[in-house]
Amino acid sequence: MTAERIPASLGGATSHGHLLELIRSTGGLSRQQLLSATGMSRATLYERLETLLRRGFIYEAESLEATGGRRSRKIRFDDRGRVVLALALGQTHATVSVTDTGGSQLRSVTLKHDIADPSASVLAPLLDAGKSLLAQGKGEVLVGVGVSLPAPVEAETGFVTHPTTIPGWHPEAVADAISNTWPVPFVVENDARAAALGERTTDAETVVYVKVATGIGCGIVVEGSILRGAHGAAGDIGHIRMGENGPLCRCGRHGCLAAYSSGRALIERLADHGLNDLDAISRAGRSGDRQVTVLLDAAADVLGRALAATIATLNPDRLVVGGIIGSIPAFVDQVRGRVVTDVVDRIAEGLTVEAGDPGDQSAIQGLTSLVMRKVFAAEAIDSVVTDFAVP
Ligand SMILES: [Zn+2]
Repeated sequence: MTAERIPASLGGATSHGHLLELIRSTGGLSRQQLLSATGMSRATLYERLETLLRRGFIYEAESLEATGGRRSRKIRFDDRGRVVLALALGQTHATVSVTDTGGSQLRSVTLKHDIADPSASVLAPLLDAGKSLLAQGKGEVLVGVGVSLPAPVEAETGFVTHPTTIPGWHPEAVADAISNTWPVPFVVENDARAAALGERTTDAETVVYVKVATGIGCGIVVEGSILRGAHGAAGDIGHIRMGENGPLCRCGRHGCLAAYSSGRALIERLADHGLNDLDAISRAGRSGDRQVTVLLDAAADVLGRALAATIATLNPDRLVVGGIIGSIPAFVDQVRGRVVTDVVDRIAEGLTVEAGDPGDQSAIQGLTSLVMRKVFAAEAIDSVVTDFAVP
């Protein structure tokens, strides 16, 4: 939840949707505070609040301190019982969670799978898990569903586009499965982008998030908005070529970043060492296993080189390195060292480089934000509320 802050003035009348946005983002305000924040006339404000109350979007909460002999009540966004269903798909597992509207997980389950399998066999158990988690809630209202995938996604439609990880999936596979199961609004987003949004701590922040798990993905959030690019491919850094004669990549070319620094590349190099999954590599890396640490350092160094240009171009507040491999402390340290060495001091000095969540928490948090934005965006509210007031 964003810290309470009251804008000096929004200048003139405010629509129902903008009013709700103000109430939601501040955590609740009194009528008097709303009057001074919006500059609206008392009659218009009260009429709009009445409509929002009647529609169940807001409620009158606890009394604030007495002002002039009258106790004023705080008007809050009505998040009571409202929940979001989030499905965060990785290449080898998925987390299905029911969250409150702030993204805190109420109930959650993690399932193993192989994302390279046909979409129907990957999605069916996740839909079942979602239905079962929702059925466990008493008196809850499902606001919407969010899905994240380790693949490029067209945000407008929720279609999967040109994926290297799931080439056999139809573009509309996920959107169809969700809309056929739950009659509520939904969003589909790339996993690193959802996580980047989930990792941001303030609306003003510019964050670059890199997920290093089986593959490598990057999400960029500039002042609260996800950067998607002209063709939805912004942050698709896994196949930047770091050396023409480098190791063979899954995409068929040599020397891609993923062929040096992804979890899959590490598994190939460590199979002889008896480490054949990411959990085992993560445990060995975190406990300081010498052979693993040397390989992690090399992988992180190449990733740091690839990221330096992005960092210099965007000048972000934070670089967050997440995913089960990326969040290993030694890996983060090496990425930080390389990036800081490779960019000019002016950019390095203001940059925080830190470990993100090793699992799916950030993506789930980001998916909840995306669903809430879609359902409760000012325009969405204005389109469902009839305005009888004369501004
Ligand atoms: Zn490649």
